[in-house]
Amino acid sequence: MTECRIRAQTYFDGRAEHGAADGPYLISIRDGRITSIDLHADRAQADLEAPFVMPGLAEAHAHLFLDGGELNTERRSAFLAAGRDDMMRVARENIVRCEQAGVTLVRDAGDRYGINDAIRDEQAGREGPQVVVRSPGLGLKRPKRYGGFMARDVEAGADVAAIVDKIAEDADDVKIILTGVIDFAAGAVKGPPQFDAQELGAIVAAAHARGRRAFAHCSGLEGLRAAVAARVDSVEHGFFMTTDILDEMADRQIAWVPTVSPVHFQWAQPRLAGWDEATIGNLRRILDSHREHIAHAHARGVELVAGSDAGSPGVVHGAALIDELFHFLDAGLPMAAALTTATSRPRRLWGLPSTDIAPGGEAQIVALDASPFRDPRALRGAKRRLA
Ligand SMILES: [Zn+2]
Repeated sequence: MTECRIRAQTYFDGRAEHGAADGPYLISIRDGRITSIDLHADRAQADLEAPFVMPGLAEAHAHLFLDGGELNTERRSAFLAAGRDDMMRVARENIVRCEQAGVTLVRDAGDRYGINDAIRDEQAGREGPQVVVRSPGLGLKRPKRYGGFMARDVEAGADVAAIVDKIAEDADDVKIILTGVIDFAAGAVKGPPQFDAQELGAIVAAAHARGRRAFAHCSGLEGLRAAVAARVDSVEHGFFMTTDILDEMADRQIAWVPTVSPVHFQWAQPRLAGWDEATIGNLRRILDSHREHIAHAHARGVELVAGSDAGSPGVVHGAALIDELFHFLDAGLPMAAALTTATSRPRRLWGLPSTDIAPGGEAQIVALDASPFRDPRALRGAKRRLA
């Protein structure tokens, strides 16, 4: 039996802040589970001290085999032929970056090389606190369409149930590449959706039959309509969102992971890709519209979830999830709502045990040097994993 008592001045439990009035708080942990929380705790009772604690963060959309800090386009494409050892090295470095950012759970969003499965298994076998990785293995895409680095081809008319069966042998979730990427210069999504609502519905049904959730890379109105009609579990990216789509997503409890970071990087560093003034204007309009729709999603009760698309150019694992929380704050979410998108909500949606800081919760506790409820910049400061 191992026991540990953490004394915190204030904390976020996964849903709400517990302020200074009843603090300091003594969080008692036995064998990895929170057993009690006492108010007005004495220092003498504690093994560890922290100004503020919260549950470890969940990153809902990352590509662990890709280094988001690598900005050189040629080196990025050469890396896709780098081989397994180099990719595993990058994935391990990304795990460390996640740990430094207070991330304890990562949902990988696909890679063709199986690094996501390998790093998941490596983490699961690790002694002591680990970063739990969920992996979809390979995503599903149409031949000759976007997504070759992260997905396998599904021909028109293919037996999707058999394909999903095969994937579900190892996958925690099923990833679908439903649309193309955004053509920033044109300010629109490239091409029609890769799957129609009926095919998509068959993939979602096959995933659900195997107890897997289906999450879909999707931007643009056509793709969003198909995703909602097929009742995917989560819309990833969702650029060119509308309030009507969001209202339907709220009604159907479809989650939204808006991944602001990769587009924000293109806008903030336009010279790297050589964007002209018109394209920079498109990027700004896309970001402004996204922010308004994030605000609407919050107001309407859509299941907003934080995911950064880490591994994309300029989107660094760990740090970018914190950026994503700031994008939510910029859209007007209160701090507790923003933190919920990376703590209790993804765990509930993914059917995982609660890590809420409450009796019975699994102890995955991260300390900050100050409360982000007093100053949001504390989120960017040093983080220590205490349990
Ligand atoms: Zn992605």
